[in-house]
Amino acid sequence: MRIGIPRALLYYNYYPLWHSFFEELGHQVVTSSVTSKAVLDSGVMSCVDDACLPIKLFHGHVVNLIGKVDAIFIPRLVSICPEEYICPKFIGLPEMIKSSIKGLPDLIVLNYNAHRNLKDVHRAYVELGTRIGAKPSQAVKALQKATASQQAYDLLLKEGQTPLDMLNGRKRIGEGEGKGIIGLIGHPYLLYDEFISMGLISKLRARGYAVLVPENIAQPQIEMACAELPKKLFWSYGKKLLGSGLTMLKGRKVDGIIFLSSFGCGIDAFIVELLQRYNHRLYQIPSALITVDEHSGQAGFNTRLEAFIDMIEWRDGREGYISAHGASVFGH
Ligand code: SF4
Repeated sequence: MRIGIPRALLYYNYYPLWHSFFEELGHQVVTSSVTSKAVLDSGVMSCVDDACLPIKLFHGHVVNLIGKVDAIFIPRLVSICPEEYICPKFIGLPEMIKSSIKGLPDLIVLNYNAHRNLKDVHRAYVELGTRIGAKPSQAVKALQKATASQQAYDLLLKEGQTPLDMLNGRKRIGEGEGKGIIGLIGHPYLLYDEFISMGLISKLRARGYAVLVPENIAQPQIEMACAELPKKLFWSYGKKLLGSGLTMLKGRKVDGIIFLSSFGCGIDAFIVELLQRYNHRLYQIPSALITVDEHSGQAGFNTRLEAFIDMIEWRDGREGYISAHGASVFGH
């Protein structure tokens, strides 16, 4: 069977696992095309208006797979970690797709819910495998191999690779470094989709900056940074963004930090605010917030980015200048 995987949402986190699982069970995996204006437009046309940009884009990638595959894989993620949740938009995703898009092939829905126990996730994969024709023992074996592929991928990310490079098959070794490091905070489906992020990573590298992304920060560091907050964060991806941002700021690992956010994202609304407040109070590292939606254009985006880089470089070069206003004038 040809199984389509939409190149959107958590594709950037779990593609090695999903790809390996289905191929081990003898199926052919077909990924939707890279995002283009046509893919985004078809998502916008088929999705409800008030969904966020990444959900609209997911619809576009599903439409892109129609006619190319026998079934489309749609994960329903409720929780990826015990006692935590992820954005509710992931819970209703299969129903949104079914009600909004006509002419769909079969949907293969994975019910992924680790809220009580991680073993429930294991059971969900085995159940999914049997639903598409495998024996339970075959599904268990396929899951073991797929888990090994995913672990190898995650390890390379912790060593400094980005999902963008890994999924495009180009492992990077120290390129783009020299002028400094820019921390990027954003959901993977924004940062690593080159159309949506308007080539943010490539543009920074072209200006001589290396990037540090949330996937490069180890989970214990994220937990440690978030443990200092007055309340426990129960949104897993919100915690990841805030914890990795705080780790970058606290260790002064970056020369500047850019938040890439989607218009209408509830989680980003408070994560970005918290991170900016901590930064202003404690670290004062140059920062910029860039919010994207389906109307964002290259010109405005490039201007923001150029201004931010110029600001970092001017500040670096002229930090020692003393203002004419203050102690140097009035002397004491
Ligand atoms: S976390 Fe934000 S950007 Fe991601 S799906 Fe939810 S609302 Fe959309």
